[in-house]
Amino acid sequence: MTDSKLKNVRPDTLAAHAGLDPMAHQGIVNPPVYHASTVLFPSLEALEESDRNPFDIVNYGRVGTPTTFALEQAVAEMEGGYRSVTAASGLAAIATALSAFARSGDHILVTDSAYGPTRRFCNEVLAGFGVETEYFDPLVSGDIARLIRPNTRLVYLESPGSLTFEVQDVPAIAVAAKARGVAVLMDNTWATPLCFNSFAHGVDVSIHAATKYIVGHSDAMLGLIVCSNKETWEPVKRTAVRFGTTAGPDDVYLGLRGLRTLPVRLKRHHEASVELAVWLKRRPEVARVLHPALPGDPGHALWRRDFTGASGLFAVELKPCSKTALAAMVDHLDLFGLGYSWGGFESLVLPIHPARARTATRDRWKDAGPMVRFHAGLEDVHDLMGDLERGFTRLAAAS
Ligand SMILES: *Cc1c(COP(=O)(O)O)cnc(C)c1O
Repeated sequence: MTDSKLKNVRPDTLAAHAGLDPMAHQGIVNPPVYHASTVLFPSLEALEESDRNPFDIVNYGRVGTPTTFALEQAVAEMEGGYRSVTAASGLAAIATALSAFARSGDHILVTDSAYGPTRRFCNEVLAGFGVETEYFDPLVSGDIARLIRPNTRLVYLESPGSLTFEVQDVPAIAVAAKARGVAVLMDNTWATPLCFNSFAHGVDVSIHAATKYIVGHSDAMLGLIVCSNKETWEPVKRTAVRFGTTAGPDDVYLGLRGLRTLPVRLKRHHEASVELAVWLKRRPEVARVLHPALPGDPGHALWRRDFTGASGLFAVELKPCSKTALAAMVDHLDLFGLGYSWGGFESLVLPIHPARARTATRDRWKDAGPMVRFHAGLEDVHDLMGDLERGFTRLAAAS
């Protein structure tokens, strides 16, 4: 139920207001955190009514509570989707969404730039269920048509890829897929519901590791699957319920709370990452910068055409240096933490090895110099530059 006051407002306004119903909660702005397993019914008739509408009436904690539904509604409205489904992690959301569509005997097309654990789910779990995964060049565009077989069920995108930041021509891929009745699923974590309007670009199911920017504070795991319409939502919701996919109420609440400040945080992550990328590009230690919001990046034209903003995650390729020199740089940074994940308030650094994570496009990365991924957090960008500058001094001294 969309609040009529929120008709025709922009995504930033939705981030502040969507999913809220203070008057249903004694005027309290935010929905309460419902901790629930058992749900009681006033009568046999009410219980039977919930059995007839198992996805819409709260009948058991696993299916969701008003806290979950508030988050699902808010995110669906922000992205312009029909409805969404919450999961306990981004990976659980991806696994649920893929399982909702792929069947034994199917062939699925997955971008070679997909998140590593997504690949492992396809290669190990889906393969065990008789689903064949073929990885394709993320830059394929409309030529994906040539890879579509009679048994191809879905195309899975991730743009930009979270290691190498290729921007995919989502509309061209979606047109080719639609022409053959193939569903288009996309990991939209980098852009969030704010910076890439997945449904306007032909995506059927948009998946978010809400753990990253939506939660935004590195303190919860959460996933969301946003669906374009009733026909895509029903199989996703049914599969989520059959798998027992659910998320803890406190984490759902943290997602809802993070959403309220997502627009301001993301703007700052965008600015800081571009400032850092520009600064890094001028460093003598850096061979190239991979950031689609940077003019001159191979994905910049598509990014400008299709995206309304960027986030804080990008990468650089360094000029050849020893592992010892790289370690001297990343081991002693004061502000950049060394670790996986991203999307929180704090800056991160991570050495990456794209060639190891690729099949269809391994050759493109096999001769690359040492690569490092950065997450630009919310610190003062000059302090971040100072931290990296000292890191480069250590790198040079250890070379
Ligand atoms: C982190 C991440 C995921 C998985 O999210 P989790 O909440 O960590 O399971 C999926 N896709 C991308 C692009 C990610 O970076």
